Amino acid sequence: MLGLMQDFPLLVHRVLDHAARWHGDTEVLSRSVEGPLHRITYREVNRRARALASAARARLGVASGTVIATMAWNTWRHLETWYGIMGVQGIVHTLNPRLFNEQLTYIINHAGDQWIFTDLTFVPLFEKLQPDLPQVKGFVIMTDAAHMPTTTLRNAICYEDLVAEGDPDFAWPDFDENTACGMCYTSGTTGHPKGVLYSHRSNVLHGLMCALCDAMAISSRDRIMPVVPMFHANAWSIAFSGPLSGAAMVMPGPKLDGASIYEMLTEGRVTITAAVPTVWLMLLQHLEKNPELKLPDLDRVVIGGSACPEAVMKAFVETYGSDVVHAWGMTEMSPIGSLSTATARMAALAPDERWTLKLKQGRPPFMVDMKITDDEGKTLPHDGKTFGRLKVKGPAIASSYFKGEGASAFDAEGWFDTGDVATIDEHGFMNITDRAKDVIKSGGEWISSIDLENIAVGCPGVLEAAAIGLPHPKWDERPLLVVVKKPGAEVTKKDVLGHLQGKVAKWWMPDDVAFVGEIPHTATGKISKLTLRAQFKDYRFPS
Ligand code: ADP
Repeated sequence: MLGLMQDFPLLVHRVLDHAARWHGDTEVLSRSVEGPLHRITYREVNRRARALASAARARLGVASGTVIATMAWNTWRHLETWYGIMGVQGIVHTLNPRLFNEQLTYIINHAGDQWIFTDLTFVPLFEKLQPDLPQVKGFVIMTDAAHMPTTTLRNAICYEDLVAEGDPDFAWPDFDENTACGMCYTSGTTGHPKGVLYSHRSNVLHGLMCALCDAMAISSRDRIMPVVPMFHANAWSIAFSGPLSGAAMVMPGPKLDGASIYEMLTEGRVTITAAVPTVWLMLLQHLEKNPELKLPDLDRVVIGGSACPEAVMKAFVETYGSDVVHAWGMTEMSPIGSLSTATARMAALAPDERWTLKLKQGRPPFMVDMKITDDEGKTLPHDGKTFGRLKVKGPAIASSYFKGEGASAFDAEGWFDTGDVATIDEHGFMNITDRAKDVIKSGGEWISSIDLENIAVGCPGVLEAAAIGLPHPKWDERPLLVVVKKPGAEVTKKDVLGHLQGKVAKWWMPDDVAFVGEIPHTATGKISKLTLRAQFKDYRFPS
């Protein structure tokens, strides 16, 4: 027997409708690409998104399944574009400008992008790329008439002209909640990037999940700033969780340096924000240089995308009085998979034991199931010591990649193999040991590169550290620690090894420390172990 409840498809534009109807005066504050700060309400964002939707249908020919790319910073225009295109059954494909040109042309052609919405910043890039993008019909430049550049881009349309042509009272169509609405490619450290295709239903459910109290706890009292770009794994759902909670949004636009982020945090009276550790390192450096600066409104900081060093977490908690939520996830998971929010049981623990848990990647919220297995697929115990392959299931987790690529990551029972190696402890806290391809295999045992890095970053004078396994005649691999010093700091190999001593098992101690000016990063801000291993391929340990 079926229940007698209304059919209310979970469509993303209903999220924006809710924000406009019930939180209509709530603000979206942005740093515009043109420069000045820009303020708009949800009511207006909704009207402009509807106008864009109707114009996108009429002028760009957007219909069910049309893929529209965006290469844009976090601003109100990008938000309108997401909702407007998705609301007429288009698919928004977010492009990461930090990808190499060859990767960009590959994914634009692979996805079948029809039009590209671009910020002014990237007009020169697309002028170069467009000969290699034969399917792309034209470009919408996300600015107003006064700032329209002279450009060789084909069929260049001014965004504000397009919105002005549309109908702000356009009625959204209703359709199946399983309709595709968003697309994001993984950064593809090995082989070509693979496409992940989100649906309306998965985005709405995931947006609700992220707003839960034991996740990011987003409410209408919050002012939320996604520093994580909308092109990085769905901006961790904040473009959905914010409006569905009625939280005000603060969009940092193109400037992500410490001083600019600080300005947006204070100007926007931000209560919750989210980004990768490197962004927070830049902010903390700026704050250290200017000790009079404080963060009185900032209640919590969500940190994920790569393992967050203890020093970064402690700086927020102990110096600035903001809580920190360590989160883990991936593009394939929309992306949140776990968060390190406190449980009732933790109240009984000593402060350092609570910290040990807080530093881990945390527990899965409802709608994510996870397990660790050995290579044969046998489930491993939650003892905090045994590590295995981390596998996940849920309604906002990919069931396959676009065009069926990478099928081996999905098993017959519907588990997705994340490619990460992890432990799960008796409190249910999951801890990422490494990406499977980055663990250091020494004498048949595994050394966690992430643990070495996190402890090394706590050594005074160390700005950033990366551990890689390099060939060793006796042990198969041994760790090399690559270190970037803080500007002007005097720090030696002896200092770094002295700092690690006693904090890791003896056999985990790096065989050498190499100082470099810079550690290479991927397009999503992670340490690029692949590039680093290539840089050190001729290196030999001191015998
Ligand atoms: P990409 O593969 O495109 O760089 P993702 O941003 O989807 O993009 O990366 C997902 C991977 O990032 C995870 O599989 C994991 O290895 C790593 N990761 C994400 N968050 C954390 C975290 N908090 N701690 C450690 N690793 C993390």
